[in-house]
Amino acid sequence: MSTKILQINQVSKHFVLGTSEIPVLKDVSFEIEEGSTVSIVGPSGSGKTTLLGLCAGLDQPSEGTITLNGIQLTGLNEDQLAAVRNEHVGFVFQNFQLLPTLTALENVLVPLELRGLKPNERDALALLQRVGLGHRADHYPSQLSGGEQQRVSIARAFANKPKILFADEPTGNLDAETSQSIEEMLFELNRESGTTLIIVTHDLDLAAKTQQIIPIKGGKIA
Ligand code: ADP
Repeated sequence: MSTKILQINQVSKHFVLGTSEIPVLKDVSFEIEEGSTVSIVGPSGSGKTTLLGLCAGLDQPSEGTITLNGIQLTGLNEDQLAAVRNEHVGFVFQNFQLLPTLTALENVLVPLELRGLKPNERDALALLQRVGLGHRADHYPSQLSGGEQQRVSIARAFANKPKILFADEPTGNLDAETSQSIEEMLFELNRESGTTLIIVTHDLDLAAKTQQIIPIKGGKIA
């Protein structure tokens, strides 16, 4: 039996700037199977990042409903949303977003600390080893290459064993060869752990490797 990990129902989003409303997403609906790989594709400015943020519980839609792992996000307050994110969601960003004052190992421990769990350095180190960076555990982000920083951020994203991982242009800042290895790592972790993978990308080759493609154009499903 298939299980829906994410259900987006007639979602619209506008931002308010002064007295005007800027419409960004209009009537977007789709469903995502647990454990699948999905890409959200479309031109720059079409609303992909906004959509990802709504799906991940970083923001609320103006209209419509979003259900993640059976939990309706719509109507939850900031603290409730943060609790859902900390428990169920992992993130990988284009610019890595590691904390510069923490080592690679300490960065991987952050999601567990946010959940109030006892930091388990052995598990965090195992994750760093899994992404090929066990020997860089004590390095700070500034001492790592872009590809290495992204691998740390992937280890961090998996630290809380998320049901679903959102990646926003995860290879956007990396050279072709490094991009390839980061992509392979994400797909491998999806296969191994069953974590649903949702990637925003404008790379159609990457999108073609995912099981479901959601094309967005002008804030609508194209
Ligand atoms: P994409 O990821 O496809 O490039 P975005 O979701 O980042 O698109 O942005 C879609 C549109 O929404 C853009 O026109 C952008 O300027 C606008 N937008 C995004 N975030 C905000 C915000 N916080 N306030 C106002 N406008 C925003």
